[in-house]
Amino acid sequence: MDRWVRSLRRSKVSRSSDRPLGVVHERERRPEGAVVDATTVFLAGAECPFSCVFCDLWTHTLTERTPPGALPQQLAGALGTIGQRSLIKLYNASNFFDPTAVPPADEAALLRLLDDFAQVTVECHPRFIGDRCFSFADRLPGALEVAVGLETVHPEALPRLNKQMTLADFDAAASALAMRQIGLRAFVLLGCPFVGEEEQLDWTLRSVLHAAARGAGTISIIPVRGGNGALESLGAEGHWHPVTLDLVEEAFDQALRLNLQDAVVQVDLWDLKRVSDCDHCVEARVSRLAAMNLSGLEESRVGCDWCGASRQVPDVRSRGL
Ligand code: SF4
Ligand SMILES: [Zn+2]
Repeated sequence: MDRWVRSLRRSKVSRSSDRPLGVVHERERRPEGAVVDATTVFLAGAECPFSCVFCDLWTHTLTERTPPGALPQQLAGALGTIGQRSLIKLYNASNFFDPTAVPPADEAALLRLLDDFAQVTVECHPRFIGDRCFSFADRLPGALEVAVGLETVHPEALPRLNKQMTLADFDAAASALAMRQIGLRAFVLLGCPFVGEEEQLDWTLRSVLHAAARGAGTISIIPVRGGNGALESLGAEGHWHPVTLDLVEEAFDQALRLNLQDAVVQVDLWDLKRVSDCDHCVEARVSRLAAMNLSGLEESRVGCDWCGASRQVPDVRSRGL
């Protein structure tokens, strides 16, 4: 399967290990209700050893293992642009506790650079969540949160994603993190391959509920993006259906109506405009989702005469008011 997924990839975008891929400043709602400044630093490093059929993160990774010293250099450069010290997310398109991606010799320098952040989020596959992660959390002055891709709880789709993770693996990682007071952020797919078009909404909501029940403080719904090769091939066989903006709106509206008490649900807006087929309303519709990410409250749907999208006012009872 790995070979098949990789054979359909296009070439990588050439990247330097001297500087991060990007730095994004935003605001983020936290489980306790506060809205804080958050910065995501996209680090350039080694590729993830897994080959999930839906993943395109390898596109901007290095062709070799991450050179020692590169990540502290990238982070130091990024910190110059960050005024806040509330929340920093280090996303390396791989697994933060994989020694190929983050050389253990760099940990001390990274910890020094991170020492005045209240919270640090890193991403990692459950297979790399172990002693190295727990030790990093112990030495970090702020709180550590680990972002883990749950992807889906669909019992047939999850094994076919080639993530090499079972639901039991996710649950064990969630328990291990909770036992050590390490936060959990979960990624849940919308537009998951091997899930029928009519069932997408239902399985995304079930996955959100599962992540919340396992202690995730933040659950991010990720609309699957085409373009990695494998997805297009699966689509041609009827195993993948591209996400529409309508579906994203419906999924997020319904996820907020779950009224989760201890978890924030948000939708990932990255590159979302490209799933819209109407240029007239896309800006307003994505802005609505962005506002809901911050407030946690469903807002009226945007109407559009061009594509026929109908304005809908949410039922306030769904907010538990
Ligand atoms: S584990 Fe994460 S980074 Fe690695 S291939 Fe899968 S989705 Fe991509
Ligand atoms: Zn429209």
